[in-house]
Amino acid sequence: MNTVSIYTLASGSSGNCTWARFGSFEILIDAGISRREIGRKLSLLGSDLSRISAIFVTHEHSDHIKGIPMLAKYDKIPIYGARLSLHAIKGVDDSLLHFMHHPDTVTLGDLTVSSFVTPHDALASCGYVMAYRGERYGYATDLGRPTDHLVDALAGCKAVILEANYDSAMLKYGSYPYPLKQRIRGPLGHLDNEVAAKFAAFLGKSGTERILLAHLSEENNTPEKAFCAVSEVLQKEELSLSLAVAARHEISKL
Ligand SMILES: [Zn+2]
Ligand SMILES: [Zn+2]
Repeated sequence: MNTVSIYTLASGSSGNCTWARFGSFEILIDAGISRREIGRKLSLLGSDLSRISAIFVTHEHSDHIKGIPMLAKYDKIPIYGARLSLHAIKGVDDSLLHFMHHPDTVTLGDLTVSSFVTPHDALASCGYVMAYRGERYGYATDLGRPTDHLVDALAGCKAVILEANYDSAMLKYGSYPYPLKQRIRGPLGHLDNEVAAKFAAFLGKSGTERILLAHLSEENNTPEKAFCAVSEVLQKEELSLSLAVAARHEISKL
């Protein structure tokens, strides 16, 4: 059996949650969908909530934390993240909170989870790299732009979940109010397909074998557009890595 499995359970502004298993050790990154939905999807993957050892929080936007109060209440799962992020989650017992000072590293058995700062308009915002038995796996969404932190953290990761939030033309000509458009494409907003493609090519050259494009906008992107934009650049660069797009409401494999 494969000792490492990473799946998104949901991806996009309607909710984000990623499940990762390293040997017998299981964690979640974000829990922006309901506890019930997480439990249902874990059972499809042969797991359940009692096996989750930790939830790592990227930032306090509701599409990343919505399910956490119920998971804390009923499952008592320890929660890791920046103090500002965790204190923004209402109704969670302080005893479950483990504060990180990004960039920070937490070791849980054979698994090491390192955070890196991401440019995003939250109280605090980070991505994570999980290192297990000599391989590294990255998670980076809600990114205004690629930064040195991102490059340093994700280079050489075997597999990466990477944001491809919007298609520039769809955003430009779409129905969003102007200030929201400005927020999304600003340096603390989200990553567009084109920049994601360039970043994916960089990752491919650094040794990344698999990329799952995530956190697609429902209004301003389509899975086809994101996939084509990135695969076109990868082809041009003659990089043959495995590329897929995370489904909004269904389970997707990294
Ligand atoms: Zn988000
Ligand atoms: Zn966000």
